[in-house]
Amino acid sequence: MAKIGFIGLGQMGSGMCRNLIKGGHQLKVYDCAEAAVQNMVDAGAEAATSARAAAEGAEVVFTMLPIGDIVYQTVFGPDGIAEGISNDAIYVDMSTILPEETRNIGRKLAEQGVAMVDAPVGRTSAHAVAGTSTFMVGGDKEHVQRVMPYLECMGECITHCGPLGTGATVKLVNNYISAVCNLVTAEGMALGLAAGADQDTMVEVISQTPAGLGHIKTTWPAKALADDPSPAFMLDLARKDLGLALTAAADAKVPLATGSVTREIYNIASAAGHGREDWTTGIYRTVKHLANAT
Ligand code: NAD
Repeated sequence: MAKIGFIGLGQMGSGMCRNLIKGGHQLKVYDCAEAAVQNMVDAGAEAATSARAAAEGAEVVFTMLPIGDIVYQTVFGPDGIAEGISNDAIYVDMSTILPEETRNIGRKLAEQGVAMVDAPVGRTSAHAVAGTSTFMVGGDKEHVQRVMPYLECMGECITHCGPLGTGATVKLVNNYISAVCNLVTAEGMALGLAAGADQDTMVEVISQTPAGLGHIKTTWPAKALADDPSPAFMLDLARKDLGLALTAAADAKVPLATGSVTREIYNIASAAGHGREDWTTGIYRTVKHLANAT
């Protein structure tokens, strides 16, 4: 059983605290909303009157707060975590904030000898309540290992992504892909509906293809991830199909904003000589080249 400080008892934090209490840990909690603190006291936590008080005497201190500025203020502001946390304790931020905001907080805490881990969370508040959140974790291996038992109380699929801030980076990448897939799915479905296709039928078909299953586990492993240009499906043919969808959408007066931008990138890829390559490898090579990424 560990003494844990926990700050930020909203949609996510309240469920997570309950799971830590269920795991046998002793929680001292703080939130600027008194009702949120009272809820956790009713669940078995001790109330703290500030972030500093929640951090005092704790072996590990968690924050689950809305944005980076609030996290920074909660750590370094008056009566903040930095004033109360012991040098033996580890600070874990689980909020979704920028990697650079995370690294900045970590650097400042390191100056006073305190270690930090970032562990942003995947899935929703329903999973936080059920204890099935996912975690993308950044920090030194030794620090990550120390906080692992607590993360395991709150979730599953816990991935150590690399040094401090890489949890935030992977979370941001994941959410970016997810948000854009959400929009492009809506665009495609709207095109189908406007052109007279049935929604359930489209779902039945798309559920069996990379469009519905996602590329990372279907088309990418053998081609883009292996940097193999030999085509399972040629980029120029995908470019042609994209053009067909955009023509059909123009006829049906359906906006395909994502598709329009996508076609320009396919054009760039083709013009750069990737047209006869596999569509996934050609696109990945093109975007990595534009991004100067390896
Ligand atoms: P929330 O708004 O429900 O909870 C935030 C809590 O922080 C509130 O209880 C609020 O009173 C408290 N708070 C705000 N400012 C404070 C301060 N200065 N001092 C003390 N307490 C303060 O938000 P949430 O949904 O729990 O999300 C928290 C973080 O988790 C966000 O970064 C969010 O992007 C991320 N996240 C949310 C979900 C989700 O499904 N809700 C999923 C994954 C990640």
